[in-house]
Amino acid sequence: MQQCYNGKGLRMRRIALGLLVFLLAMQAAVMPVAAKVMHIVASFTIIADMIRQVGGDHVEVASLVRWNGDPHAYEPSPDDAKRLRAADLVFVNGMGLEGWMDRLISASGYQGKPVFTAKGIAALKMEEDGKTVIDPHAWNSAANGIIYVRNIIEALSAADPEHAQDFKTSGENYIKELQALDAYAHREIDPIPVTKRKVLTTHDAFGYFARAYGVMFLSPVGLSTETEASAATVAKLIKQIKSEHVRAYFFENSNDPRLVQQIAKATGAEPGGELYVEALSPPDGPANTYAQMFRYNVDQLVKAMKN
Ligand SMILES: [Zn+2]
Repeated sequence: MQQCYNGKGLRMRRIALGLLVFLLAMQAAVMPVAAKVMHIVASFTIIADMIRQVGGDHVEVASLVRWNGDPHAYEPSPDDAKRLRAADLVFVNGMGLEGWMDRLISASGYQGKPVFTAKGIAALKMEEDGKTVIDPHAWNSAANGIIYVRNIIEALSAADPEHAQDFKTSGENYIKELQALDAYAHREIDPIPVTKRKVLTTHDAFGYFARAYGVMFLSPVGLSTETEASAATVAKLIKQIKSEHVRAYFFENSNDPRLVQQIAKATGAEPGGELYVEALSPPDGPANTYAQMFRYNVDQLVKAMKN
């Protein structure tokens, strides 16, 4: 009996131990996912904000280019490479915006592939110095912003399926907000006569806005801030501004205002204020989220064009 009891007891203990090991293993398998926060690196502030809106508490997002920073002409630091190496996911715009990114990724040792947030957008092409180039500033139409958000929902859900429902819920709410902003832009701009919908900016960052909402943008610098305007371009532009009766000019928060100021002076165009073209404002500024930035730009433009 004793033997038998001992045998039973041993078996019981073995079962209990087995169960404990099993439970611990289950916990080990589940715990890191449940408690996991994905470390995400975004190339610039606009997509960093979009990722935060969709990812909520499940993500921690660092932007390489900071507020008011120029995403075309960025010089990555050794810290950026470290951040990339430690990232779970990396997001870029693509379309040729971040010319510095490929080199940074290979230098960092990051093993994954970046997520292209502008994937699936009907690209605008422009002729520049006899070459056809793609306009990368797709986010400046809110309808395109929605495509970015869908790509972000998809990428976050694939990387962290456990929280896919959360990404879908917050992403869909965010999309509704962007749909309302798209409608807002039309409601504000549509009543303005087409002859008045013309402004001068520093570089060609509003092609998608122009196509979506019917506004004409003139600028001395091309699609990338890395190009320089020649004297001939500037002279031609001054002529065009006069003949088109463009009356307002805007600074860009991420670019040198001097050239556009000079041109405006030569044409009599009035300052319309500042536009946030490819970088958010600091947290205490008027455009510290993508949604706020879009609305702010619409309001600034409408105010200037109505005059
Ligand atoms: Zn740009």
